[in-house]
Amino acid sequence: MAKRLDGQMLAALYETSLRASVAQHLATAGSPPGLAVVRVGDDPASGVYVRKKAQACGRVGIKSQIIHHPATASQQEVLESIRQLNANPSCDGILLQLPIPATLDARQLLLAVDPDKDVDGLHPLNLGRLVRGEPGLRSCTPAGVMALLAHGGIALEGIRALVIGRSILVGQPMGIMLQQANATVTMAHSRTRNLSDHCRQAELLVAAAGQPGLVGADWVRPGTVVVDVGIHRVPPQRQGTRGRLCGDVRFAAVEPLASHITPVPGGVGPMTVAMLLCNTVQAWQQRCGSGVRTALVPLPR
Ligand code: NAD
Repeated sequence: MAKRLDGQMLAALYETSLRASVAQHLATAGSPPGLAVVRVGDDPASGVYVRKKAQACGRVGIKSQIIHHPATASQQEVLESIRQLNANPSCDGILLQLPIPATLDARQLLLAVDPDKDVDGLHPLNLGRLVRGEPGLRSCTPAGVMALLAHGGIALEGIRALVIGRSILVGQPMGIMLQQANATVTMAHSRTRNLSDHCRQAELLVAAAGQPGLVGADWVRPGTVVVDVGIHRVPPQRQGTRGRLCGDVRFAAVEPLASHITPVPGGVGPMTVAMLLCNTVQAWQQRCGSGVRTALVPLPR
């Protein structure tokens, strides 16, 4: 039976470490770290994520604000919000909550975020820094996966890793981070032929396809480390009950085979939020001169 890579528990350790770090630097800094979340429209899942991020900020001493535009907001209005936050000295991190309405150009909005406040690591400058292996703000979800693997004691050197999904948000930065940890990485995507064969070759499998239950037991060889990034709400079976969450991996079938596995919920999701907090505190320390750009918040032991 696989060991669970417990993101809930590790995220709580990060929060304890971050809370201490914020308290320690607060007097020197003069003001707490600030995170602004820019939300456009009323996507219900985004509403839940934004609330969770704000609550997590509160727990570690980050001051958060939500700038909520209606779905009818113009590109110019959202751009103006981002520019004001760029100029606001008490704002250390800016996050554009995706998805945004299709009428807006997300690429241009992400480009407008000051790279030093880009706590989602999606600005081309930070993505370029990642590719070059230079210090910078890193994408939260893949950084969270790397932290989970490190904490789980998974040796990545030379390992055959398969990443399913090649989005800018998850798959691409995940593949680069794994390569930088000396894994041998294969990237799979919707045009990949014989995906199941690739999966069966993998010693580490990161599923980020956004397809509920894509990976079953027959795709996983015994002893594989399985990381499930996918998150989907399964509609309730009976009226009046809440739907449950599931991932891209059929957890019950794969758990007996894998050496390690992340649950959904409680795996990668909480780590994404923890890395957002880390990035915000890192940007704040950078602004206050109380940390160096390379100093990542230490992994809690
Ligand atoms: P996306 O839709 O932007 O990208 C999906 C990728 O998967 C694409 O590159 C596509 O080519 C590939 N793909 C789709 N179907 C496939 C198939 N059948 N076989 C192989 N490849 C396939 O999605 P995303 O933003 O990268 O997110 C992926 C999943 O991760 C979603 O379920 C999303 O909700 C979840 N997610 C979770 C977190 C978290 O914190 N847990 C964070 C971000 C995204």
